[in-house]
Amino acid sequence: MATPATTGQQIPFNRSSTVGKELQNIAESLLGGQIAGDQAFTRRCQALLEQLTGTRQALLTTSCTHALEMSALLLNVGPGDEVILPSFTFVSTANAFVLRGAKPVFIDVRPDTFNLDEKHLERLITERTKAVVPVHYAGVGCEMDAILAICRKRGVAVVEDNAHGLFGRYRGQPLGTFGQLATQSFHETKNLTCGEGGALLINDPAYAERGEVLREKGTNRAQFFRGQVAKYTWVDVGSSYVMSDVLAAFLYGQLEQWERVQAKRKQVWEYYHMHLADWAATAGIRTPVVPKHCDQAYHMYYLVMPNLDSRQAFIKHLKDRGILAVFHYQPLHLSVMGRKYGGKEGDCPVSEMAGDCLVRLPFFNDLALADQARVVREVRAWGGNQ
Ligand SMILES: *Cc1c(COP(=O)(O)O)cnc(C)c1O
Repeated sequence: MATPATTGQQIPFNRSSTVGKELQNIAESLLGGQIAGDQAFTRRCQALLEQLTGTRQALLTTSCTHALEMSALLLNVGPGDEVILPSFTFVSTANAFVLRGAKPVFIDVRPDTFNLDEKHLERLITERTKAVVPVHYAGVGCEMDAILAICRKRGVAVVEDNAHGLFGRYRGQPLGTFGQLATQSFHETKNLTCGEGGALLINDPAYAERGEVLREKGTNRAQFFRGQVAKYTWVDVGSSYVMSDVLAAFLYGQLEQWERVQAKRKQVWEYYHMHLADWAATAGIRTPVVPKHCDQAYHMYYLVMPNLDSRQAFIKHLKDRGILAVFHYQPLHLSVMGRKYGGKEGDCPVSEMAGDCLVRLPFFNDLALADQARVVREVRAWGGNQ
């Protein structure tokens, strides 16, 4: 992670880097001659994820999107069902359930954390609601006490989209262990990566056996390899959600270094916050809110600008100075697909504001201190909406 500063060059928004034994592990995997899924490195990653989060069972998948699709299959989501999810999220949070024929029901987010706003939840649950999908935005926990209480009362499953939140905690409990199911992403933009990858965390044992089957093309192959059945056969629906062990080898190199990665990301986050919070307050710009009972996962640092015009001007100001800052989710209820499900302006006002006003600063595991200083300097040089 000791990359020198990019002196004079452009500072990207994101860049992936090796942090440990990734290359050595890949060589070991290749030389071992078994590079399909569920080999040694996959098992090591899964065991480490289980140990670090306390989940009952972790299954590596080809992506977080696929882990979400597996969740939809496990919950038997189908036509006529409704799934409640924030409008301010990545498309996969919705698509995984829409693929099964369900209707996405968009809930607005809280103005402080941009997490699903639990005060709207009860009102949106109907007898068709199959699941609620909280997204721990920026790795800051949703209000899980309230969400779980409502979902338990109404008999609705919870799938945490924890793509941002690995190693974050809510009231001391790891994110990804609250829902019956939770999903992780190891896409290159996330804290830990193998390029493209993910995991399904199965917290409710009721889904454990079928989870393995769906992931292995609908076969009981996993049971066969454990010697629990004499031969393996087609037992259920399923698909191929298994990650190659070559990628798992890379991922294991990252996972083993999780403490170093998280410490580095904490340093970046705190550096930005220390040097920008006071300035932002005087400039009418909002900085991230992390409630006291949440230990965040240090996934990103963002600013909330006064309006769309100032956000766009600010991005251009930084781009002209060689710094790539980017906006984030455009509200799903106003997307081409979202509108087909009845979404219209004003449905989710906070999501619409966040879509217009939020901007993310460069944030990655080998962002040099000198580059952090350069970002801070150029951000603070912004004179407003000229
Ligand atoms: C990145 C992300 C995903 C998708 O992850 P992939 O691993 O790329 O499929 C889903 N949800 C959220 C909130 C994300 O940030």
